[in-house]
Amino acid sequence: VGCSPSSDGVDGGVGEFGPSSAETGALGSIARAHLAPARPEVTPLGALVSHRTSPGPQELAPVDVVVLPHPLAEFDDTALATLIRQGAPEIGSASVGQPNRGKLYNGVAMPEGPLWHLEEPENSWGTRETIESIQRAIARVEADHPGSPPLHIGHISRRTGGWLRPHRSHQSGRDVDLGYYYLEGPRWYAPATAENLDRARTWSLLMGLLTQGNVEYVFITRDVQSLLLEYARSQGVDEAWLSELFEAAAAPDGAAPTAGAPRSPTPRTSAPRSPAPRIKPSARAALPPGPEPVVRHRWGHHTHLHVRFYSDRACTTGQRTFHLLRKQGKL
Ligand SMILES: [Zn+2]
Repeated sequence: VGCSPSSDGVDGGVGEFGPSSAETGALGSIARAHLAPARPEVTPLGALVSHRTSPGPQELAPVDVVVLPHPLAEFDDTALATLIRQGAPEIGSASVGQPNRGKLYNGVAMPEGPLWHLEEPENSWGTRETIESIQRAIARVEADHPGSPPLHIGHISRRTGGWLRPHRSHQSGRDVDLGYYYLEGPRWYAPATAENLDRARTWSLLMGLLTQGNVEYVFITRDVQSLLLEYARSQGVDEAWLSELFEAAAAPDGAAPTAGAPRSPTPRTSAPRSPAPRIKPSARAALPPGPEPVVRHRWGHHTHLHVRFYSDRACTTGQRTFHLLRKQGKL
């Protein structure tokens, strides 16, 4: 169950478990604003987004964003210390430190369910947001494609987080390894190929994850990304959007967008689709770097995909409670 290390904050260098403020930085805001017009109501910290009356067809609708207070906002440190001492459920789950150097407090166990199979239930603990997001994404696959086989779920985190072999991340309840859907039925850790990948269901899974607005990134190897891109294009998914979303779609100038994979053979009766606008190398150099695609290539992720969630609520709880948890010997 190999996972590449996170590209962010590898062991930080700050000793202890520093607060993970960088986890919800500008990139996340951009990605979430772009991908999530309506965040589900189950995340209390989530933004309430309301659309005003629809403007012209080429304009983005303005949105009003209201951030709800964190559930612990009303408690000062003294009150928090008392709640922690009592083991009060109000604390909720806390993602402490970094995914590569962190802990999980009050984690939630991923339950067993008919739509998925846990490889190791003892290593399937996460923040409440992580656990709920996984379930919603898998439920979407079943809604889109009834009769789906159970999805294999690998490691999330240990009950109290921390080091979990063989990963560097998976320490703070915000990472999960999910299998792919295969045409020949459920399998775990099988290389996904053009012959066996159930593109439609895997695409639904990916959309079920990303549209919740709670995903920092997903690791999928470039070849598997190309298979999913091929499927998305056959469904008429917007090319510019795909280019922002998938590392494998953001091909260098002049290269085929899906090198190694044939373009979709979808018949088109209308005029040929105009290619995505390309930027000349000279112009590209002048542009500021854009946000990194959410779906990223990392070696080893042809047998499973790795999802990193933000878990805003649990991260803030971790920052608020870290010193108190340490003081009471609960970390
Ligand atoms: Zn992983």
